[in-house]
Amino acid sequence: MAEQCSWCAASVGADDGFRVAEPESDHKAVFCRLEHVVPWVIHGASWDRGRIVTDGEPDDALGRCALCGDHLAERRVLVVRHRGRHRIADAFCRLEHLHDWARGGGRYKAAS
Ligand SMILES: [Zn+2]
Ligand SMILES: [Zn+2]
Repeated sequence: MAEQCSWCAASVGADDGFRVAEPESDHKAVFCRLEHVVPWVIHGASWDRGRIVTDGEPDDALGRCALCGDHLAERRVLVVRHRGRHRIADAFCRLEHLHDWARGGGRYKAAS
């Protein structure tokens, strides 16, 4: 089922795009591409209500912020990239670190 990008409203297929969530607040957002996280955060991050993982699924990636390496607290932010059947998760200690990470090209910066 297609969703809409929280920033540009483009259609995002179930096997494509990025899902972002604050699990503790029941907040989620959807992005067609990682770059759209950046203006969305700058303009105040308007969340939808909802979850991107079901109960019982791990929602804290490796337990550390992908940007600064700090342990994650309740206010963590989760990012899941959908790529075909694959789900690639990262987590951040706070929204600003997701923003910095997205602005830098995410985890594929070094590979491209
Ligand atoms: Zn978009
Ligand atoms: Zn961090």
